[in-house]
Amino acid sequence: MIIIIGAGPAGLAAAEAASRSGAEVALIDSASKKGGQYWRHRNSVKGYKSDRADQLFSKIESASSVTHISDATVWSIETQGGLYRVNYLQGGQESSLTAEKLIIATGAYDRSLPFPGWDLPGSMTPGAAQSLLKGHDLLPGKRIIVAGTGPFLLPVATGLAESGAEIVGLYEANNPLRWLLSVHALLLNPSKFLELVYYAKLLRRSKIAPRFNQSVTRFSDGLATISGVNSRLQIGKKKSQTLSADVVAVGWGFLPDLTLGGIVGCAQKVDSDGTTIFEVDDQQRSSVRNIWIAGEATGIGGADLSLIEGEIAGLSATGQSIRSTLRLNRIRKQIFANALKRSYPVKDGWQSWLEENTTVCRCEEVKMSEICESVTELGAEDSRTAKLFTRAGMGLCQGRVCSRNVSEIVAGLTHCPITDGERIALSNRPIASPISLGLLGDGKK
Ligand SMILES: Cc1cc2nc3c(=O)[nH]c(=O)nc-3n(C[C@H](O)[C@H](O)[C@H](O)COP(=O)(O)OP(=O)(O)OC[C@H]3O[C@@H](n4cnc5c(N)ncnc54)[C@H](O)[C@@H]3O)c2cc1C
Repeated sequence: MIIIIGAGPAGLAAAEAASRSGAEVALIDSASKKGGQYWRHRNSVKGYKSDRADQLFSKIESASSVTHISDATVWSIETQGGLYRVNYLQGGQESSLTAEKLIIATGAYDRSLPFPGWDLPGSMTPGAAQSLLKGHDLLPGKRIIVAGTGPFLLPVATGLAESGAEIVGLYEANNPLRWLLSVHALLLNPSKFLELVYYAKLLRRSKIAPRFNQSVTRFSDGLATISGVNSRLQIGKKKSQTLSADVVAVGWGFLPDLTLGGIVGCAQKVDSDGTTIFEVDDQQRSSVRNIWIAGEATGIGGADLSLIEGEIAGLSATGQSIRSTLRLNRIRKQIFANALKRSYPVKDGWQSWLEENTTVCRCEEVKMSEICESVTELGAEDSRTAKLFTRAGMGLCQGRVCSRNVSEIVAGLTHCPITDGERIALSNRPIASPISLGLLGDGKK
């Protein structure tokens, strides 16, 4: 049996490819429905090329060798004599499954940057706003500002607008001219033009005009400050404007979810933009025997790349041959993924938006002034020491949200660059999901 963790595009493609060999597959996901972040719609999947999702869903459903285990959150993986025991929480019970081979396809989550007010009600990530809409048919508010960087802002703004929200503004912090650095990536991926045209039509229909080199830099009492930012994300000289909104949905790309692979010791590396990702070979094999990793846990590249990587992992794990067209397609999509990094960089100028009392770690309510004090008064020289002094990153999310930001703030204060070892350590945690001691003890609530 093969256990696949994650039923997003990568996990689904892996399950479908593995099932072609007749192998028994258990597909585990914490969500109630298949589809991952992209296709997590409550009813039928809508949006760009949604028929891809329907086709994959029906292939998986008709494959008798694939069992989908939904609402099941994997909290740890143990190695037992060449087998992997995957422990998960489902319906208040702890259960486990054992297999010789694992495919990890746990995807990514929104990257947040702190700014004054990012911890107040009404401030959320674009992913959270979209997940309320896709998963629950709910709008987070009536008047919404979408901001940050990356192409993901487009489906969020258009999706909210099509569902009746008033998009007060769509602010992309980077400049679209940065794409001139990556014309080759666009030429190699002409389908991306079609996707852009698709969203341009939706934006026009909803009368949304994206603004560039601007961002939300403060939010309080339903008022958002929109400031012009330069290519380093520092606030420019132009006067800021204040707009009223119920919700600001601000996101800065995605961070790969490395927890499960990290628990079993799969090797990681630091990508060109400072993001920690898994190291895999051309068959998506990790450094650990019989563990494959596919999709955004190996680097942010969009659903198309996740689908290809998932298929390659499923084929490789079941000993099937991998077509050369599939390998070539992966190279094309990886070139596009690199172009995304060049076009939507997140430079450290965001730190200039922070005030002394801006919360940096929301779980432990650690303020910017406390991080500064840990360096200037207490002598912390790296983020690990700053964390010990302030408890930043020690709360419920275990630093998933703030640890990269804290390390960048400390690096800014100490003028010492963050080492790759530090980045990798910050992305790993021993337990993937909170578990009560009662459940841990006897497997029941
Ligand atoms: C919030 C969000 C919204 C997005 N919306 C869009 C969009 O509208 N349009 C677009 O083009 N791209 C979107 N993207 C990008 C897109 O999701 C990715 O490119 C693509 O879905 C990646 O596929 P994946 O299979 O690698 O990961 P994902 O789709 O992220 O799937 C990973 C799956 O793993 C599961 N999982 C993770 N950890 C565990 C665990 N411990 N136990 C059990 N299950 C686990 C998750 O529940 C999830 O279903 C979005 C990304 C995010 C983070």
